[in-house]
Amino acid sequence: MHGRHITRRGLMLTAGSALVSGAALAHADEVDAAPSNADEALERLKTGNARFARGESIHRHQSHEWRKRLTKGQNPFATILSCSDSRVPVELVFDQGFGDLFSVRIAGNIIAEDVVGSVQYAARHLHTRLFVVMGHESCGAVTAAVDALLGKLDEPEHIAALVRMITPGLTNLDRKKSRNALITAAVEANVLWSMRQLARMPEAQKHLREKRIALVGAVYDLDSGTVRFVETPPGLLDGK
Ligand SMILES: [Zn+2]
Repeated sequence: MHGRHITRRGLMLTAGSALVSGAALAHADEVDAAPSNADEALERLKTGNARFARGESIHRHQSHEWRKRLTKGQNPFATILSCSDSRVPVELVFDQGFGDLFSVRIAGNIIAEDVVGSVQYAARHLHTRLFVVMGHESCGAVTAAVDALLGKLDEPEHIAALVRMITPGLTNLDRKKSRNALITAAVEANVLWSMRQLARMPEAQKHLREKRIALVGAVYDLDSGTVRFVETPPGLLDGK
């Protein structure tokens, strides 16, 4: 894939000769085969994020021609559950375009009933093989959950209800840590908590066991723009 990037840059460098038209670039989009399994999908996300973090995004799959092709149907290669935070737009963070990612965004990347429904839709009808739960540094929803743990939450009913979806995943945190350190640890703990709840679904269990799908966790760093994929604790994917 890196090679394709170079190829495209190379093409653009020769654009002065007017040999490269918009149609040629659209064609480059079209020949870009979708990942065929979860490992390839994860690799595509990692290399896309590396491009983004270096400031070298290629913004593929955004041409008029590509969008027209997508009117016939979608074949996203990954499903990503992430936060609504305006600083974490998933397509930009992974340098992907139209039709690439099935994106479920909700404050705190929590597992609510309709979130499960969206993820289930992606599995059952779009057949995405890779599922990513992505939290991010300085998450407001997670910060509110930490404040709730510390007995300092002062939010109206619906925000409090959202926070109550996060706090069960934070029970093992060391509350003697500073508030900032707690928030950092809580972001990752909340990612694992959402993964655990997804993995417990009977349908997910079956597919995970048969290795037909992969479920991974990640944390986005606001400063560097990098996505760190977190280690999955033993047993989590077994639904324990
Ligand atoms: Zn957030």
